[in-house]
Amino acid sequence: MKDWYQKSGEEVLIDLHTKKEGLSSEEAVTLLEKGENILSEGKKKSTLQVFVEQFKDLLVIILIAAATISMISGNVESTVVIVAVIMLNAILGTVQHEKAQKSLESLKSLSSPTAKVIRDGQKIEINSRKVVPGDILLLEAGDMVVADGRILNNYSLQVNESSLTGESTNVDKEEVAFDNEMPLADRTNMVYSGSLVTYGRAMVAVTGTGMDTEIGKIASLMNATKEKKTPLQASMDQFSSRLAAIIMVICALVFLLSLYRRMPVLDSLMFAVALAVAAIPEALSSIVTIVQAMGTQRMAKEHAIIKELKAVESLGCVSVICSDKTGTLTQNKMTVQDIYIDGKTMMPEDMDISSQLHRYLIYDAVLTNDSAIVEGKGIGDPTEYALLEMTGKIKVSHDYLRDLMHRLEELPFDSDRKLMSTKYRLHGVPTVLTKGAVDVLLDRMTHIRTSEGIRELDQKDREEIINQNQRFSENGLRVLGFAYKEVEDDHVLSLNSETGFTFLGLISMVDPPREESKAAVMDAKRAGIRTVMITGDHKITATAIAKQIGIFEEGDLAVTGAELDAMTDEEMDQKITKTSVYARVSPENKIRIVDAWQRRGNIVSMTGDGVNDAPALKKADIGVAMGITGTEVSKDAASMILSDDNFATIIKAVANGRNVYRNIKNAIQFLLSGNTAGILSVLYTSLMALPIPFAPVHLLFINLLTDSLPAIAIGMEPAEHDLLGEKPRDPKEGILTKEFLLKLLLQGALISACTMTAFHIGLKSGSPAVASTMAFATLTLSRLFHGFNCRSKYSLFKIGFSSNWYSLGAFFAGVLLLHLVMFVPLLSRLFSVAPLSGAQLGMIYGLAFIPTVMIQISKVIKSGNQ
Ligand code: ATP
Repeated sequence: MKDWYQKSGEEVLIDLHTKKEGLSSEEAVTLLEKGENILSEGKKKSTLQVFVEQFKDLLVIILIAAATISMISGNVESTVVIVAVIMLNAILGTVQHEKAQKSLESLKSLSSPTAKVIRDGQKIEINSRKVVPGDILLLEAGDMVVADGRILNNYSLQVNESSLTGESTNVDKEEVAFDNEMPLADRTNMVYSGSLVTYGRAMVAVTGTGMDTEIGKIASLMNATKEKKTPLQASMDQFSSRLAAIIMVICALVFLLSLYRRMPVLDSLMFAVALAVAAIPEALSSIVTIVQAMGTQRMAKEHAIIKELKAVESLGCVSVICSDKTGTLTQNKMTVQDIYIDGKTMMPEDMDISSQLHRYLIYDAVLTNDSAIVEGKGIGDPTEYALLEMTGKIKVSHDYLRDLMHRLEELPFDSDRKLMSTKYRLHGVPTVLTKGAVDVLLDRMTHIRTSEGIRELDQKDREEIINQNQRFSENGLRVLGFAYKEVEDDHVLSLNSETGFTFLGLISMVDPPREESKAAVMDAKRAGIRTVMITGDHKITATAIAKQIGIFEEGDLAVTGAELDAMTDEEMDQKITKTSVYARVSPENKIRIVDAWQRRGNIVSMTGDGVNDAPALKKADIGVAMGITGTEVSKDAASMILSDDNFATIIKAVANGRNVYRNIKNAIQFLLSGNTAGILSVLYTSLMALPIPFAPVHLLFINLLTDSLPAIAIGMEPAEHDLLGEKPRDPKEGILTKEFLLKLLLQGALISACTMTAFHIGLKSGSPAVASTMAFATLTLSRLFHGFNCRSKYSLFKIGFSSNWYSLGAFFAGVLLLHLVMFVPLLSRLFSVAPLSGAQLGMIYGLAFIPTVMIQISKVIKSGNQ
């Protein structure tokens, strides 16, 4: 049987039971029942596997040892509680892992590619999962090929198939059938899922989807992508394992000290176990993951879709944002303003269709144009449908013109060349129509057409055009040049033949800045972030817009791509901090700009939408793609996608990124300072030869239950108003700085001092059980109060209680749990809690409140000094 590449287009259509007008929606629904167009995930961890993995943690192993020792020492209740806690911890860990995975998957589906197909004779855009064999797929530059297919009509299609073949050069495609057997890489009439369209267009019949594609065949051979840890998660893991090692050493020392004091072996062991349990931050890694996951969900709601979790952390360090102009800083709503033709400027309404000169400009604007207006809405490139709207003003039907003329050949627009050309037969003569950037077109023109006819383009004409272009651009207008040439019948349109044109005119269009852009640029400046405009547009247009929105200030520089090409890296380094606008840039220029900023130690965010932007997006620390106008290729390369294409969203995402990082840091501070209090208390009693203050269950109760709630609440702390008033974080600075550790130690010591005071008061009453209960309750309560301290570096008076209701809820839930343990007999027995008098209870509350009062006072004094 013949393979798809050996069949003609007609045979392919027959065999797939489809036609060029596409499948009907009913047929597509039936075919979809056979399977969606997705690769089945390789080896995904089962829930059981995830559950078992929770026990591999060294800290959990220490807990298991603690349970065993408790059992040997005859403390059955303790053993039961520890085992229950370990199980609970594993269950919570599994649930949280699955949830985080789901949330990542939902983000993934938000950024999953779309495909343009013909169904019921209409061009529609659908989620790539819904593509079925027999669909007619329309490909154009920037698209990702989402299924395998046989090319039916080819318009200079070039595809990068490196994901399949490893070969990074682009492959030219064709539509003819092959007779012979060919290896995969040579089947140039086929396209394969996972490849990227770098140039041209094509119509393709889908031959295979999902696991039936070539990439599907090797997908099962590939390992499942490893879950990548973010730098923060990795450093927390590293911290945990170091902590575990330190804990073991200290535990051993405490054990030996107790033995030396002739304490019974089992009691000595219990001391060591209590210390280990006090020190292990059981909830830490879950809290980091939960806060990160909540942060990405919030960002998605605010139109920033995070594709890689580590981007959340890097966002807080961003110090330079390189942003596209069109559509990101501006609205991408183009409206034709003035036309320059025959040496005069005029409004579109004043054009005269009885003049052949004016008619040719209209032909060029309408025919060298791939956009459409359907039910009053523009489809395609806004620059192009602005031209169609213009013809509406002069009562010319672009649909009629397009029906009348048949496009013979085309060279699509690309942002490197900045031109688009088509070939038509106009008034019986084969004619190449072209439009594009004026400076590019000027070099390719030899003649000019005026109302008096065609003449050679002299120096004076050139200067006239340049001056007019300058006048338009100074007002922030985007300018397109239009030209044409008559050719022989056998002329073949090629990139080398885009010369020898006759100038027709210029059309200028406005694209107003987005309303939010100016404020967002100001916010960025306040946040110590430099905004740089990088655009394919003209230098003067770009500078005018950059001035309007506050990117370009007195003394700044604007540099063109050509000027950049002439600079050495050293020259670039000298100018980089002064340059606010880069105009007429090529995708290669973008990479050099990112590189230059990174050389200075900056964390760079770069936006991009085009097919050639992918390398620059990958090179940037945060590559940002446009959700609406961006190509699939750029979305694939980016680590964040803006679902509203808006520059202001990047600034919001930076604020969110900073907030998430700050909240994680605060939650870590809360958990570790509480643990420090526990460790210091156990060490103190051990050194002072006092009875053991806590049973392991007490510490587990605090670490896992009462501490988790405030930690999550701290993670939900809303962004402070002045979060953008700080400088970006130094990426090299970890969380566990000396200053941070000192803070932990001080706060821990304060809580421990109050806890031990309660312990001593309890001991005075003559009962070690009462003393232990008082120490346990004081430690629990003071840590719950401490949750308020860790919400912010500012005092509660400044941030207010009501700014985070979760934190109040967490506090009361914790207090309730503590009282349940203290007053419900069954629980009291399980947790070895002794009954307390009212006075003792009052004492506990008083002592537990002291650290918070002191910490709050120190915050007030500190902010008064600042
Ligand atoms: P940004 O990089 O900020 O998005 P841009 O959209 O202006 O800027 P390009 O789309 O690369 O960048 O356009 C560069 C130049 O190419 C424009 O200034 C214009 O002169 C010309 N141009 C833009 N669109 C077309 C088009 N559809 N056909 C022909 N020329 C075009």
